[in-house]
Amino acid sequence: MKVLVIGSGGREHALVQAAKKSPKVTEVLAAPGNPGIAQDARCFQVSADDVAGLVELARREKVDLTLVGPEVPLTKGVVDAFQDAGMKAFGPKKNAAELEASKVFTKNFLKKYKIPTARYEVFTQAEAAKKFLRDNGSTRWVLKADGLAAGKGVLIPLSLEEALEGVERILVKKEFGDYQLLIEEFLDGEELSYMVLCDGVQGLALASSQDHKRLNDGDQGPNTGGMGAYSPAPVMDEALSQEILRTIIAPTLAGMREEGRPFTGVLYAGLMICGGKPYVLEYNVRFGDPEAEVLLPRLESDWIELFEAALGGRLAEAKPRWKTGSAVCIVLAAAGYPANPRKGDETQGLDRVGGGASVFHAGTARHDGRWTTNGGRVLTVTALGENLAAAVKEAYAAVAKISFSGMHFRKDIAARGLKRA
Ligand code: AMP
Repeated sequence: MKVLVIGSGGREHALVQAAKKSPKVTEVLAAPGNPGIAQDARCFQVSADDVAGLVELARREKVDLTLVGPEVPLTKGVVDAFQDAGMKAFGPKKNAAELEASKVFTKNFLKKYKIPTARYEVFTQAEAAKKFLRDNGSTRWVLKADGLAAGKGVLIPLSLEEALEGVERILVKKEFGDYQLLIEEFLDGEELSYMVLCDGVQGLALASSQDHKRLNDGDQGPNTGGMGAYSPAPVMDEALSQEILRTIIAPTLAGMREEGRPFTGVLYAGLMICGGKPYVLEYNVRFGDPEAEVLLPRLESDWIELFEAALGGRLAEAKPRWKTGSAVCIVLAAAGYPANPRKGDETQGLDRVGGGASVFHAGTARHDGRWTTNGGRVLTVTALGENLAAAVKEAYAAVAKISFSGMHFRKDIAARGLKRA
């Protein structure tokens, strides 16, 4: 069968490689892909959010199954458009992708179905929001712009002054777009990503993982798209996993069915574990990036079979087999990331990475046989190991072989997991 992967980041490179491993797959295509992905798939210059162009491409190339990486095409209804054209695309339809497109929709949904989450208020007027913050000054709050902001529309103020300034940024200056403001109680705990494959009714828990959102070591600095991840996360044990399935995933899938928005695809719950109890911070409606780069290589069995089972409503029978051991990935970022990433720095050493490590391309370009940087997150380096410590060692050994001017990355990926393990 022919598989098309939509998107152009490290996650999509990992999806392409996962599809290529399937004995069922004869060819993998990507739209738009990137020069690194082009080493593994035939790439087409159709943008990931050009829904009509993607349908046309899939029809012309007689694609059997399309995998959607990023959220934007999902929230634009790419899966609906493929279905209307009689083709299969893996992911939620537009009305189910609302779980990621609108934080306000999600918070109201969570409240309605009594799913644990931080308490919150929604504001459209700056003065009302400021009054709320002044009146509730003893609580620590998080400010969120209600919309897709690539992980950047969330402010975690350290003082009332900073919080008031945040209101200005979101509601008055509209720095993140023309969105409502969600003010949410700050939850102090350990973050955990929990990804579930869903067929509309059934949820199949994938391996656990932990992301590192902040730019610098020790979880300091600004939020980013993600600087690294590891899987499995030792904070997750069987009891916690069961609790998440029972109190969060099951009521979410049942609630979405009840709302007439059955969820098919990867449901990513961003959770905060406080006092042993899970709370929903956010939902994403696709694989996390970089979590995909540790999760996808960890499956022993066939991803394509799993995606087909999800599309066919047959997940209850699926029995995925995971590799033993751990996976770790480290994101190599360009000079100036996240604020103002620089492009065009020559990248060396990619051909020296081998053995147990893989390099997934996110923001690279290729000119005259040379690799250069072409985005904020440039490469994701993933290594598997018999345990977390071995995977960390292998991943950093591979990173040490790669260089470009201004390259920076976190040196403490998986540190929390190592401490626990
Ligand atoms: P979100 O996009 O909603 O997941 O927010 C991005 C990041 O902000 C999360 O990964 C957390 O690190 C942090 N965050 C969001 N909401 C809260 C909260 N209520 N309490 C503490 N941290 C939060």
